[in-house]
Formats: sequence, structure tokens, C-alpha cells
Amino acid sequence: MKKALFPGSFDPLTLGHVDIINRGVALFDEVIVAIGINADKSYMFSLEERKKFIEAAFKGEPKVKVVTYEGLTVQFCKEIKVPFILRGLRNPADFEFEKAIAHTNRQLSKVETVFLLTSARTSFISSSIVRDVIRNHGDYTVLVPDSVRVK
Ligand code: ADP
Repeated sequence: MKKALFPGSFDPLTLGHVDIINRGVALFDEVIVAIGINADKSYMFSLEERKKFIEAAFKGEPKVKVVTYEGLTVQFCKEIKVPFILRGLRNPADFEFEKAIAHTNRQLSKVETVFLLTSARTSFISSSIVRDVIRNHGDYTVLVPDSVRVK
């Protein structure tokens, strides 16, 4: 069974993430969406909210699992025996950043990183822009799946 880990902050889940997860499902038997816990970072949505948004968005898709983890992503992959990391690429800045991380991960482990290029219609979406729109009372609903709603 081919499994891939899709790690990120998902603060919150966006239509860009949904696109990568759906396309990952076509390539892998299981896509494990892994919310990284970083004690030094402050988030707009709690861990529970971020997890619920993803679970609700994929409740009809048994190939998608949602977990949380702390520490190094490759260490977590080793612990749960997942040989692939899935990441999305939007632009040259993403590429440079992801290249350094993927090379480091290859030095630290045998885990292979698989990149999917973002779909044109979601390439401009980022969680930080969504948070900005929410803070400024804009219509964020066009950027996120229906499961993501601010109370
Ligand atoms: P991180 O804090 O690790 O960057 P994110 O939740 O922002 O976590 O992103 C997780 C993954 O989703 C990354 O691989 C990122 O490149 C990808 N991603 C984010 N937004 C998009 C998008 N609009 N299209 C494609 N991939 C995306």
C-alpha cells in the first residue's frame, strides 16, 4: 500500500490544499494529512479546529486520514512507516524553499518528496492571505472549502 504524508500548518485548509490532496489521492492509496505542531508559532485556528476542517472536507474520502505530529517530519514518517512526503509548489519561492527542505530530508532519511504543481485556478491561494481576508472581514469563503467557517 503506497502511503504519502502531506504535512503543513493548514491554518486554515484552503482550496489549494484541497487540490493537492485530491490529486494525491489519485496517485497514492492513502494520503495522510499531517498537521505539524510548532510551539513557537501562533495560529489563527486551534489545532482541533484545523483538524475538524480537514476531516469534514474529506469525510467521504476513506483514502484521506488526518493526524497531528510534533518534531521532524522525516522522523514522523519513519515512525508511521510512510515512505513519501507530498508537497505542493506554487511559484519559484516555494520551489527554492522546498528544494532545501527536500535535500535536507534526503540527507536525514530515505523518505522521498513528491511535488505536485498547483492548479492554475488555486495557485494564488495561501493560508496567510486567507487569514488576512478573515481579519479584514472579506469574503474568505471563495478561497476555502465549505467546511472552513469562522464562528
Ligand atoms: P507550511 O507551513 O508547511 O508551508 P501550509 O499549510 O502553508 O504549511 O502548506 C502545506 C503544503 O501545501 C505546502 O506543500 C504548500 O506548498 C502547499 N500549498 C499551500 N497552498 C497551496 C496552493 N494554493 N496550491 C498548491 N499547494 C499549496
